[in-house]
Amino acid sequence: MTYENTIKYDKELHKNLKIHCEKCLGFCCVALYFSASEGFPTDKDAGKPCINLQPDFKCAVHKNLRQKGLKGCTAYDCFGAGQKVAQVTYGGQDWIKNTETSKQMFDVFLIMRQLHEMLWYLAEAFRMQYDETIQEKIRDMIDETVRLTNLDADSLIKLDLVVHRHNVNKLLLKTSELARGKARGGKKATLKHRKTIAGRLNFIGADLRKVNLIGEDLSGALLIAANLRDVDLSGTDLIGADLRDADISGANLTNSIFITQVQINAAKGNSNTRLPISLVRPAHWDK
Ligand code: SF4
Repeated sequence: MTYENTIKYDKELHKNLKIHCEKCLGFCCVALYFSASEGFPTDKDAGKPCINLQPDFKCAVHKNLRQKGLKGCTAYDCFGAGQKVAQVTYGGQDWIKNTETSKQMFDVFLIMRQLHEMLWYLAEAFRMQYDETIQEKIRDMIDETVRLTNLDADSLIKLDLVVHRHNVNKLLLKTSELARGKARGGKKATLKHRKTIAGRLNFIGADLRKVNLIGEDLSGALLIAANLRDVDLSGTDLIGADLRDADISGANLTNSIFITQVQINAAKGNSNTRLPISLVRPAHWDK
């Protein structure tokens, strides 16, 4: 693939993974289980519409979510799965009028969200990969995942995502290993012997301003309310890390590995926080 075609492919892929609420039918406000303790309106069962969802699928309190303490809603990102289910899988039919298929629509949304999340990580891996053989394998996996997203509803429901996820993960791990090694410039990782909770590195509330995190593996790490002010997170693997209320003001995440919009939305940053080109600065940071 030529350089120009690689850029075009990469842009197109990322474009389809951006949320487009106007083209969705409020799936995330219905299909998901909510816990009030995680910043959602109230505890809510999966499949039950949120009390703030209006008949036109818009949120009645959209402009004031943060002020009303609904942080969970502002952090959520479906990676474009909502509009795909609404417009492609079901061709614009809505779940209010089609009560007999509504349950299936919500189940399909949850599956599509997983596929789109995998696509997001694969797209990031494709972008940062320098090894042509691995990049080719990533591209094949992207094409296969896109094919799955285009299946009809019945086939999507029957999908076994475990094997597919396992194969995706192998490519992500390889990409992370290469990218972290490059960022460390041959030096060894230093965080291996830190304390963990259920196998996850525990940095809850920790002051990490003086820790060198370049090229470290913080995948799945608990960084809740950690102080990462002005920290350089270049080549740091942040896949699945919990960044809720972590202070990333002034931090450099330009070349962080596998950071998502959900994590950025949940963290506290400012105008000096440097983000990867695939992510946007949350509006609530400037308030
Ligand atoms: S408060 Fe608004 S954004 Fe949050 S779940 Fe309810 S309708 Fe959706």
